[in-house]
Amino acid sequence: MDSDKPPRRVVIVGGGFAGLYAARALRRAPVSVIVIDRAAHHLFQPLLYQCATGILSEGEIASPLRLVLRRHKNVETLLAEVVDVDPARHVVIALRPGGSRLEIPYDDLVLTAGVRQSYFGHDEFAAHAPGMKTIGDALAIRQRVFGAFELAETASTVEERRKHLTFALVGAGPTGVELAGQIRELATHTLRKEFHRSAPGDARVLLFDGGSEPLASFGPKLSARAAAALTHLGVELHMNSRVTDVDATGLTAQRKDGGEEYHEAGTVLWTAGVAAPPLAHAIARACGVEQDRSGRIKVQPDLTVHGHPDISVAGDLMSLDRLPGVAEVAMQAGRYTGSRIRRAAQGHAPPGPFKYRDLGSAAYVARGRAVVLVGRIRLSGFLGWLTWLLLHIAFLTGFRNRLFAVATWLVAFTREVRPERAFTTREIETARNVYAVIAGGDAARAGTRDTGAGTVPRQTTAEPAPPPSERPAGPTRPAERGGVQRPPGSSGPRDTGSTGGS
Ligand SMILES: Cc1cc2nc3c(=O)[nH]c(=O)nc-3n(C[C@H](O)[C@H](O)[C@H](O)COP(=O)(O)OP(=O)(O)OC[C@H]3O[C@@H](n4cnc5c(N)ncnc54)[C@H](O)[C@@H]3O)c2cc1C
Repeated sequence: MDSDKPPRRVVIVGGGFAGLYAARALRRAPVSVIVIDRAAHHLFQPLLYQCATGILSEGEIASPLRLVLRRHKNVETLLAEVVDVDPARHVVIALRPGGSRLEIPYDDLVLTAGVRQSYFGHDEFAAHAPGMKTIGDALAIRQRVFGAFELAETASTVEERRKHLTFALVGAGPTGVELAGQIRELATHTLRKEFHRSAPGDARVLLFDGGSEPLASFGPKLSARAAAALTHLGVELHMNSRVTDVDATGLTAQRKDGGEEYHEAGTVLWTAGVAAPPLAHAIARACGVEQDRSGRIKVQPDLTVHGHPDISVAGDLMSLDRLPGVAEVAMQAGRYTGSRIRRAAQGHAPPGPFKYRDLGSAAYVARGRAVVLVGRIRLSGFLGWLTWLLLHIAFLTGFRNRLFAVATWLVAFTREVRPERAFTTREIETARNVYAVIAGGDAARAGTRDTGAGTVPRQTTAEPAPPPSERPAGPTRPAERGGVQRPPGSSGPRDTGSTGGS
């Protein structure tokens, strides 16, 4: 290698599983790497439901990216939201917190921005039914779930109390099943003796799905076992029921025979479906590449996009051979992409096409019960749960997090204690626009500030939902702002904005 030549610049968009594994594969490679993420942490999404239901703290499932990558001397981390790519000029365009623009030049670009929650064309449901993808989502759900028990305690009528103690979950995949089980468990165990006027154990948890069984991807045998475990816990299964509307007081579900039912519920949570983020559409436009039905970017067998050998896509954002959107695919795809770029920088021949090794999947149903599918091996009950536990300990990022999570699980599972129940008290009942809250604008700061209202029990009234015709349509994410200005020509990230520049 020519030592006078500056090292190749690799830009990785996203510090999730795929981005992190790509960056790790480039450690000590003769390249300089920039990982850009709109969050300052790497998040272990599979345990978000435990953060939402008070078992783990946000710090135990999210590690600062700077800390995780501190020993990677050739890797830099940037907090910014990437909004576009200009393949002709080899730059990505990003917004810093505050809104000013950066242009970051690349020689190799790795896109690993993941996916977002999909409301199947009904983004207006998000105002009443938060999804779960980020720490902000998990904390919003924690606020609503624990807030509902508080509201039930001070309810003035039986009907109102019943409403607050009814939780409806949409989507019976792993996340919906895990959340449903956890809410029943916390109602019947953790909170059972803590309330005087209401009985948390009366909480109803309704789980809706258009399919015929929960956890359908685990096959009929394990899904039947999961269904039995959920029923035993007291979760009410509404399978073959497609949710067609959600408002401030509940949801409407359409049965297979076409009949519709309205279910009143104080809390509705959404865990069904994912879609590509707006960035995927911007990339597809800029690079002239195809997207699949959910908007994910179609990649070639080496995970690059057609016509752009310097642009790769890995993880949930990529579409290849109908691979599922799971952590293991993201880790293997990220590692493959990182090592492909390293080999090129070292002058080695490119590797063969990406091959995914399926290591199986696991879902937690309740304390002492989980289902695990590894090849032909199917585990359920306590053995499934032990395997689930070991897998999650092994894959949690950071030694400290593993240690703390194990200690917390020991206490939570043996003594029915959930130590992480702190939540702010604003907008418990209607969580009007969850995604505006997460976006971090003024509304966000107002929405998450603790007003102290929780110290005085207060009667709150749900605002009636506007009729569908008056609800705002369109994306729930913040609109992209401003126009790109001329690059000043440095090789590092360029701040081209006029507001809040450094
Ligand atoms: C609640 C939940 C439970 C799950 N449970 C399991 C499970 O049990 N087992 C399993 O295998 N999988 C599970 N998954 C799926 C698994 O978490 C994903 O497949 C995996 O996280 C995908 O990794 P990724 O790197 O592609 O994307 P992500 O992990 O989503 O990372 C994307 C990163 O990109 C950043 N980002 C996004 N947009 C931008 C932008 N425009 N600019 C800058 N940064 C951006 C995000 O902040 C994030 O850090 C679960 C997912 C969820 C949401």
